[in-house]
Amino acid sequence: MLKERVVFDDLEIGQLAVELDDQEPEDVIEWALNTFGESVAIVTALQADGMAILDMAHQMFPQVRVMTVDTGRLPRETIEFIEDVRRRYPEVRLEVRTPDADEVATMVRRNGPDLFRESVENRLMCCQIRKVRPLTEALEGLDAWFTGLRRDQWASRAAITKVQLDHDHDGIVKVNPLADWTAADVDEYLDEFAVPRHPLYAQGYTSIGCDPCTRPIRDGEDDRAGRWWWESDAPKECGMHCPIETGGFEHEVRAILGEAHGDGH
Ligand code: SF4
Repeated sequence: MLKERVVFDDLEIGQLAVELDDQEPEDVIEWALNTFGESVAIVTALQADGMAILDMAHQMFPQVRVMTVDTGRLPRETIEFIEDVRRRYPEVRLEVRTPDADEVATMVRRNGPDLFRESVENRLMCCQIRKVRPLTEALEGLDAWFTGLRRDQWASRAAITKVQLDHDHDGIVKVNPLADWTAADVDEYLDEFAVPRHPLYAQGYTSIGCDPCTRPIRDGEDDRAGRWWWESDAPKECGMHCPIETGGFEHEVRAILGEAHGDGH
């Protein structure tokens, strides 16, 4: 029997966003767990924000679904941290998604393993194949997903609300419980509840992604300055949280998908 989806329209979600805006993260999480049940999951790279949400949700529903992606270029520390999280939260249903091996092989054959250094288009293409596509597939079948987005992270995130419709992913609901929190609020929460932290924070990293595309920040730099630091004037986004169209990489991605699957799409 087909499961009935929980769907909101723009008007309803706008009203909910107003109602939830001054609510605590725990209340927003509770609302989402009660509203979507099995059809909501936390999608996280296990950074501080995602870990705070995971811990809060785990306190209410220990079997909460969590999805992360192993892009194939993650630092060793992240792989080990995934295991730490499994041990700390054994009931949590943590799913590690991986990119399509044929798509990665085709991209690397055509463009080389470190294509992301050559241009913003190549970097977006790599993020698309290794991260965005597996995460997008993970969202299929869900009615909502939790993200650790905060308004103070980057200019492109300044207007996020605690709930919004995700028109890039079939109109499901994106729940951002920490929208109005700061990095210091997150830190305080992790300390208070002894939540494990990704080990690279202790080495000066403030935003952690793939190994070749992440470095610690220097004094006075923005928190996301350590991501794709060789680029100038490009958004510090992989394309998962906002559509990024350059006119350059989408064509190449389509060619890679066609070649990888031999279906010409
Ligand atoms: Fe590729 Fe770098 Fe994006 Fe990882 S962060 S998917 S290695 S471009």
